[in-house]
Amino acid sequence: MAHRTDFLLSNSQRGREIVIFENNKFHKCNYVSSLCAFRWRCVQKMCNANVYISEDSKSIVKISSTHTHDPVTDKQILLEKVANSVKRKALDDFSNPPAKIVRTEIINADAVQSFAESDVMNVRRCVYRSRRKVVPRLPKNLKYNSGNSENVPPS
Ligand SMILES: [Zn+2]
Repeated sequence: MAHRTDFLLSNSQRGREIVIFENNKFHKCNYVSSLCAFRWRCVQKMCNANVYISEDSKSIVKISSTHTHDPVTDKQILLEKVANSVKRKALDDFSNPPAKIVRTEIINADAVQSFAESDVMNVRRCVYRSRRKVVPRLPKNLKYNSGNSENVPPS
């Protein structure tokens, strides 16, 4: 088998190393000394597909077993890509309205043709969700706290 190099080394949102190969994502696993390569396992639960990538991360030296799930479509990849960049932008600049961020990122990803109205709405929800995590909601009832009475000096 000729070694394949048509994969992408990237970082997951949590900063983990991932490999994207034929639209599937793989997590780095153990080092396999007989192949001088690392084993990367498909991130999908219950899937045992593996690729083995050379130590220098330059080529896939072995592909083993097939995926047990439906193939991931280009559309899914694109949706995820836009959603991720939208989430990032949403937290970088709070002054931008979600609709504007979403529009800009869809154009940046060259995804205008692929996005249906429902996709746009889904991505827009990501903005609200990720912002809500950072900005706490104001409490509904502000109680005036007069402080700890034990600290009140004796009169
Ligand atoms: Zn898989």
